[in-house]
Amino acid sequence: METTRRDFLKVAAVGGAAAAVFGFDVRPAYAQLSQLKIARATETRSTCPYCAVGCGTIIYTIGDKAKNVTAQVVHVEGDPDHPTNRGTLCPKGSSLAQDILNDRRLLKPQVRRPGGTQWEDISWDDALNEIAAKIKKTRDDSFIEKDANGKTVNRTEAISWIGGCTDTNEFNYLVVKAMRALGVVHLENQARV
Ligand code: SF4
Repeated sequence: METTRRDFLKVAAVGGAAAAVFGFDVRPAYAQLSQLKIARATETRSTCPYCAVGCGTIIYTIGDKAKNVTAQVVHVEGDPDHPTNRGTLCPKGSSLAQDILNDRRLLKPQVRRPGGTQWEDISWDDALNEIAAKIKKTRDDSFIEKDANGKTVNRTEAISWIGGCTDTNEFNYLVVKAMRALGVVHLENQARV
């Protein structure tokens, strides 16, 4: 139920009158109405995925965390404790709930084969195996042990990595470790936070 300012003023007046005539006050009950949407929700802190600003968000989900219950997102708002945005979100970030709950959202990997015009669904296992095979082949084909001056470099310039603002410090740490182990030298992240 949506409570308008006019409704609230009416209730405040009626509540005041009820308190005076009957000795009870309905205002606390009506004050509960505005909290119902997120009153029993779980708060999860996250990051807006849209741009490099990396604003902090709070995602509210309902569901009692039982194994057979799927949590349902009911609200997303800016995180007032986040140093980047202090609770604010731009119009794109403010629409995050529509992104999360969108029935056009992709939930599995897809591939478009060379020469193909359509995207095909692919399992996570097949996607990971194909990516691993392509990384190995590309690295083997492009690996440079020594540069033009004979200096040992052990690198490939044919693979690059780009991360996003939702990547955590810990994830980025592991990315750098893994990429450097492969000899990848072109590493970037779009976030500037
Ligand atoms: S809320 Fe707006 S400014 Fe902040 S990260 Fe999202 S898109 Fe960028």
